Amino acid sequence: MTEKDYYELLEVSKDASGDEIKKAFRRLAMKYHPDRNPGDKEAEIRFKEINEAYEVLKDEQKRAAYDRYGHQAFQGGMGGGNPFGGGFGFNAEDLSDIFSNMFSDFMGGGRTQSRNGPIRGADLSYNLEISLEEAFSGTEKEIKIKTTETCETCHGNGTADGKEAPVCDMCKGSGKVRRQQGGFFVFETVCPQCKGEGRVVKDKCKDCGGQGVIRVEKSLKVKIPSGIENNVRMRISGAGEAGKRGGAKGDLYVFISIKDHKLYERDGKDLYTAIPISMACAALGGKLEIPGIDGQKVEVSVPAGTQTGSKLRVKNAGMSIMNTEKRGDLYVILKVITPTNLTPRQKELLEEFRSLSGDDDCQPEIKTFLDKIKDLFK
Ligand SMILES: [Zn+2]
Ligand SMILES: [Zn+2]
Repeated sequence: MTEKDYYELLEVSKDASGDEIKKAFRRLAMKYHPDRNPGDKEAEIRFKEINEAYEVLKDEQKRAAYDRYGHQAFQGGMGGGNPFGGGFGFNAEDLSDIFSNMFSDFMGGGRTQSRNGPIRGADLSYNLEISLEEAFSGTEKEIKIKTTETCETCHGNGTADGKEAPVCDMCKGSGKVRRQQGGFFVFETVCPQCKGEGRVVKDKCKDCGGQGVIRVEKSLKVKIPSGIENNVRMRISGAGEAGKRGGAKGDLYVFISIKDHKLYERDGKDLYTAIPISMACAALGGKLEIPGIDGQKVEVSVPAGTQTGSKLRVKNAGMSIMNTEKRGDLYVILKVITPTNLTPRQKELLEEFRSLSGDDDCQPEIKTFLDKIKDLFK
């Protein structure tokens, strides 16, 4: 277990939301994943630490215990005060779909594949940013991914004749050999003859260099449904890397994030916008026109006597709701703008307005205000 601060490890603040923590974890796990940093011990340690931190912070109960007692909350056996017990596993459930293939190797246990059998292709991920308008209407995006395809020349076998390579006789296809050292210790190491592949390709296929797969750049269309939420993951089954020796293709995970909008802020199915209005419009009432998220104009009536901060609801002018024909609402928050740089005539009219309002004009509600607080002086 690490001694480091879990929040610092995940690079989030102490009051970060569950969503923020999840996002930070994903980002860092990708960055430090051993498969991306082969042979880098520090990255591996970091990866384990991030997992450990996430294991605690993703769970409300564990997080609360950590906030209160720090790492001590999880030191098992000490006075029996640890309600959570158990060691730290990897967040396989959170990562398994992203890294499923890489993971089995890294975790070193569980579902180890027979080395000379079929190997499933690696999963890929792609970050796709869309606009709020696109999230509203749904869209189709063409993306380019670097992936692998089965080499057609050798049918994925990596051999010059296209046939299956013979099983390695040194490791009998397991990819590992045991060595005894000093008479007592038995070490298991990667088979030096097949480099862990379990099969030995003598004459390599020229087109793929014996890999059985070739690197390609592929473009594909991703259909994004209308009403999609921010920071969701779409799985495109079979769009990942090619498998080896007849293994299934991996999947492609497309992470969708929605760009900030100039006018609108989204809260689930609803939209919010702040619109400045003139003092005269606020006092006398009027009409506003706002460009709607669907490209249509939205007309909003401002009632006479509107105060700054008033919220108007326009029904069915919000976001589309996924898998339905329905829409959320639009909330328009009005901000009354005090006029500046008045012309002499405007000034004159406002002075007249003030004189008609009487002495209390600067504090029009002073009487009710004083009534309200007079109890405080008793
Ligand atoms: Zn080939
Ligand atoms: Zn071998």
